Amino acid sequence: MSLPQVHYSEKETPRLSLHGHQLLNSTRYNKGTAFPQSERETFRLLGLLPHRVRTIEEQVALELEHVRAKQDDLEKFIGLVALQDRNETLFYRVLVENLPELMPIVYTPTVGKACQQFSHIFRRPRGIWITPDTVHRTAEILRNASDDEIRLIVVTDNERILGLGDQGAGGIGIPCGKIALYCAAAGIPPWNCLPISLDIGTDNSALLEDQFYLGYPSRRLKGDQYFEFLETFVDGVQQACPRALVQWEDFKKEHAIAVLDRYRRRLPSFNDDIQGTSAVALAGLLSALKITGGTLPEQRIVFAGTGAAGVGIGRLTRAAMIEAGGDPAQIDRSLVFVDSRGLVHEKLRSIESYKRDIAMRSDVMAAYGFDGDEQFDLLTVVKKVRPTILLGTSTVAGLFNEVIVKEMASHVDRPIIFPLSNPTSLSECTPAEALRWTEGRAILATGSPFDPVEYDGRRHEVGQGNNVFIFPGVGLGCILGETRELSDEIFLAAAYALADSVTSDRLERNAVYPDVGTLRDVSARVASAVMKKARDLKVGRVLSDEEIDLLVAQSMWFPNYVDHSDAGN
Ligand code: NAD
Repeated sequence: MSLPQVHYSEKETPRLSLHGHQLLNSTRYNKGTAFPQSERETFRLLGLLPHRVRTIEEQVALELEHVRAKQDDLEKFIGLVALQDRNETLFYRVLVENLPELMPIVYTPTVGKACQQFSHIFRRPRGIWITPDTVHRTAEILRNASDDEIRLIVVTDNERILGLGDQGAGGIGIPCGKIALYCAAAGIPPWNCLPISLDIGTDNSALLEDQFYLGYPSRRLKGDQYFEFLETFVDGVQQACPRALVQWEDFKKEHAIAVLDRYRRRLPSFNDDIQGTSAVALAGLLSALKITGGTLPEQRIVFAGTGAAGVGIGRLTRAAMIEAGGDPAQIDRSLVFVDSRGLVHEKLRSIESYKRDIAMRSDVMAAYGFDGDEQFDLLTVVKKVRPTILLGTSTVAGLFNEVIVKEMASHVDRPIIFPLSNPTSLSECTPAEALRWTEGRAILATGSPFDPVEYDGRRHEVGQGNNVFIFPGVGLGCILGETRELSDEIFLAAAYALADSVTSDRLERNAVYPDVGTLRDVSARVASAVMKKARDLKVGRVLSDEEIDLLVAQSMWFPNYVDHSDAGN
């Protein structure tokens, strides 16, 4: 079978025309001490490097030694970014081979500190910034950014950076970190990716008052001006990067939903905080059900937290229940939402518009025995609904207390409890607590990493519901498959593929997610599933299943030095 063409870029791989110091200063082509003698001759490097030629394996070992010698995570971050600037291939090789160790440095939580201190630790630019003064020149800026074709854009408006709020121009650290994970975890070539900060000003007074602040020194654009800015930006992207997949990153909830709805049909785009989160949580539930043996439509789920994450997970879970043959009326009864005021129900006097279609109806309230129109707290909801699954996105540490967990466990043999709030300090309960309060019966997944727990002589692995299991594969699949629209079905397909990636020996240890060390294999499965679904939905390239699997396997970039010894000038 012949392989369909790999479509990362329509431009040909450039012939290496750099030499001497230009080559040593090239992020993309530099090999440092690994330039072999033949290339040192060809590219006029003679005498510019010390005598001994190192292998990439030796270089990786040395870089790891440097990173590990640093005590402070931000220092490790700065060191790794410096390596990325110096030698992209080596940076990615170090990352790919040490993902579990280095992911928390190049991405959350350390990248958050880097965003906060952006103007003080800035060394070399990465990505682009677009301001109210330059947005009408977006296409020109995009063309300045790269000689290669851009196939993936991660863009933030900097307003809700992780849990840290408005970080102004420093928000760029998040798209940069996310792109590092797309490249390492799914093998998308870095030169086809672009991080963007929409620097529309900041409402963070500390930044505006900082004499070293590098961003646009004004308050944020709001209302119509904000949406006009976005419209102009999207026009520019369509002009300069017509085949780019756009990932909206870390927008505040109201903007995230509005921007996604406005543009999801106009350009291939998605919001990882909403869609990626939903898919990763749903995959965890599907894996947990492999342990308990139930089906999804049979479950009663209490969502403690009705923000962007809770509502997004609820909607995708509903879609999965329907796809699994569930009865819509029964599903409405089975998905129960709680927010800071308690049960979300239609008799509440004021209710935000995005919660209306998930609020419990009066007839369902009556059936569960919620009398009156007052507020019902989480314990009351757990007592009446008797959930089989309790899922926390409340940002309230300790919300799943002993009384609530024991109440749930008194009705269910294997309670599925997902305290997903981040960071660790906000987790609704710890895995050790949940296992103790349920005599080891709980099946858990958390938002933050937790060590395995020994309970009653048994070791329980704790799966982390990390979006990194979803977005790199979705990105790769949509780029290779030239997906035109990323609907919920695409994310359902990604969730099923992720759930199918959890090995039986991990399930035996109650881990509902794969080992992070297997991330590239997981991304390949997710990418293939997404391409097949997009093809079936007629929004992507038409290839056979076999061709898709082969294309994904052969398109994943692995960071290794390319031999240029016969390409000199
Ligand atoms: P958000 O601020 O939009 O929503 C928080 C929700 O919790 C609100 O509905 C609020 O009313 C509710 N809440 C507050 N106190 C409560 C209480 N005592 N009982 C019940 N509900 C309560 O935040 P979000 O974007 O939805 O994110 C929520 C959390 O989920 C964050 O900690 C985030 O880090 C985490 N999260 C985890 C993942 C993951 O694990 N992959 C992905 C996304 C978000």
